[in-house]
Amino acid sequence: TTRQLIMSEKLAAIGEITAGVAHEINNPIAVMQGNLEVIRAVMGDKAREAGTEFRLLDEQIHRISQIVTRLLQFAKPEEYAGYVERHAPDDVITDCLPLVQHLLNRSRVSVERRQQAQRMVLMNRTELQQVLVNLIVNALHAMPDGGRLTLATRDTEMEGRSGLTITVADTGIGMSAETLRKAFDPFFTTKRREGTGLGLSITRKLIDRQGGKIMVESEPGKGTAFMIWLPEAD
Ligand code: ADP
Repeated sequence: TTRQLIMSEKLAAIGEITAGVAHEINNPIAVMQGNLEVIRAVMGDKAREAGTEFRLLDEQIHRISQIVTRLLQFAKPEEYAGYVERHAPDDVITDCLPLVQHLLNRSRVSVERRQQAQRMVLMNRTELQQVLVNLIVNALHAMPDGGRLTLATRDTEMEGRSGLTITVADTGIGMSAETLRKAFDPFFTTKRREGTGLGLSITRKLIDRQGGKIMVESEPGKGTAFMIWLPEAD
């Protein structure tokens, strides 16, 4: 539809801008890093007296370049598609939990895990993590008064192809029919200030690119379940 077309153009434009800015930041960072080395060499023994300061500068420059890399990865995922590896999705879920632990600690949400998948998926680990963290954070937002977060995996077939399904389900506020219809649209959010409305559209883009599918079931007042189907890695 026209609306979807406009949305995906908007998303593509944001990707271009973000990638452009990230590239622009990379150059001055490289210059700073290089000059820091020169200063250290020129100072010789004196550089050791400022060891802590130099280390801080190194660390912070490294941090900026990591942020830029992540931004680029987000804006131009095609350029990072080479990183795919075989993963057991349950391992990736286990890796995600520390990233949301601070949110879990502040909430009255219990986590239930059902690890039944035997199969492996072929995916970029960071991307799969990004997808899962997006869904988990949304689930926690939907349960301000507590509830249960279910993280489940099982081997499944989809249209005759073998793969597995990762379920992220909550017992939260659920979605109205209208929200459900628009949930994956870029910039659609019901969260006002905190929301970007990009989480689910990016999630779907990443899953599509792996030949997977993302489905959602939701009932107002009952909760929401996102199911990600991914093809099995050969
Ligand atoms: P954001 O979280 O920034 O709003 P998303 O694209 O991740 O952006 O989500 C879009 C909208 O979909 C949310 O604002 C919310 O209305 C709805 N939504 C997503 N996940 C859930 C969930 N688990 N429960 C209820 N509503 C949800």
